[in-house]
Amino acid sequence: MSLSEVAPINYRARWIVPVAAPVVHDGVISIASGRIVSVESYRGQSYLSDLGDVAILPGLVNAHTHLEFSDLATPIGTAGMSIADWLPEVVCARRQQQLTQDQRTAAILKGIDEVVRTGTALLGEIATKPWPYEAVVAQQSLASDRELRIVAFCEVLGLSPGRQQELLDWAETQIAGGGNDRIAFGISPHAPYSVPPALLESCIDRARSRSIPLAIHLAESLEERRFIESGDGPLRETFESLGLPGLEQYPLAITIDQMIQRVATAPRGLLVHGNYLSADEIQTIASHHQRLSVVYCPRTHAFFDHAPHPVADLMAAGVRVALGTDSRASNPDLDLWNEVRHLLRHRQDLDPRDVVAMATRHGADALGQPTYGRLQPGSDGHLFVLKTAAATEASLWETLLDAQPIQLLGER
Ligand SMILES: [Zn+2]
Repeated sequence: MSLSEVAPINYRARWIVPVAAPVVHDGVISIASGRIVSVESYRGQSYLSDLGDVAILPGLVNAHTHLEFSDLATPIGTAGMSIADWLPEVVCARRQQQLTQDQRTAAILKGIDEVVRTGTALLGEIATKPWPYEAVVAQQSLASDRELRIVAFCEVLGLSPGRQQELLDWAETQIAGGGNDRIAFGISPHAPYSVPPALLESCIDRARSRSIPLAIHLAESLEERRFIESGDGPLRETFESLGLPGLEQYPLAITIDQMIQRVATAPRGLLVHGNYLSADEIQTIASHHQRLSVVYCPRTHAFFDHAPHPVADLMAAGVRVALGTDSRASNPDLDLWNEVRHLLRHRQDLDPRDVVAMATRHGADALGQPTYGRLQPGSDGHLFVLKTAAATEASLWETLLDAQPIQLLGER
């Protein structure tokens, strides 16, 4: 081990926000070999790099994206459209683009670069077949000073047995490979309208046997609920127009509440979106607090012009809520701090402290990566730094929206 790997870097800052511990005014954070050694008050320590008027937060956690769309300059479709109208536009856009595998890989690597550049340290990625594991590993090693940790959820979907088996086999192969110290695998049954109950059970079985997390898009739209419960409505019309087989399996004999209970038998379950969860479903999620989390994607939620998100009700019930950008197919960028800003602007019923926890610790815990999302000894050494001259802790939170992120050279 070289001296440079063990010699700690010590930053002094006006504010340190450890997230899982009280805020420190005029603090010093020490980092060695990419890990936090200590967080303490300034009391004349030497060998400091004084950052001055800043607040240091943990590296951000983006709990949900689809990097394959990272080549898009603007979202697909138009703001305010329904999921039932948007899905065929995505299919159509992808058919028109006819991306080669090299172009798909380039899009994913571009997305990784974007999330790293904008301060994300830990990412929940929905990996669709074929996901370029080797290329992602190679990119990470190239950017070794800005390493990203990825939990890659292998996506499984299909209403026909052949497609289901193909994707289950592919997911199994990826998961059996085991990942590496930067990439961990999970499994993602896509959504109730594309994953019949037996396929959901197969995914839950694999999550349990491999001790990996599971992510599912759930309660995203009213159309989804109608298709599951009644088998008709705009989603059925969309799927019929796309010529999808297997639609006779809907309506399902299982409710969304029962699906949540089944997902709770996996070691860890991320319920993505949850835009239209009922009060009873929220209670069910809360009763499985250790295992279940909801991932809220604020700007994607706004893109589809959904009814107000039940985020406040979820948190009041004790549910862990993480944040995600979702993809560039429904969001202009992958900058997680822009999700925080969106909430600070549009959800003033939320406490800014909770919003920061959603962008850090809650995401880390949702993904099963507890060394991320908090500043404490032993935690990951990525920092997210904001320019702020706030004189009091109260004003730090009140002016959070105005605080500009800054890049820290030689951070680790
Ligand atoms: Zn998604």
